[in-house]
Parts: sequence; structure tokens; C-alpha cells
Amino acid sequence: MRRAYNSVLKLPQLSTCPQCAAPYIPHRVCPACGYYRGRQVLTVVAEG
Ligand SMILES: [Zn+2]
Repeated sequence: MRRAYNSVLKLPQLSTCPQCAAPYIPHRVCPACGYYRGRQVLTVVAEG
């Protein structure tokens, strides 16, 4: 049984957030800064 490239295909394609340059899943809100499509849709609690 040869192992296919399933593991590669399962990897999520990450995009780079234009706001904070953190990797995030496309069509999802950036978990780092809460931006989505150029708007902040989530309030990320700042440290401190
Ligand atoms: Zn971000």
C-alpha cells in the first residue's frame, strides 16, 4: 500500500494577513488581529 499525498492535500492553505502579517486561513477572520477583508470584525484583547 503506497501512501498517497493525502497529508499534503490536507494541509490548510494559509494566507498572510495584510494587517498583521500573521498566517491565517483564507475566508476566515485572522485570529491574531481580528481583521477580515480589510475590516476588523473581531475585537482582539490586547495584552496588558
Ligand atoms: Zn491579522
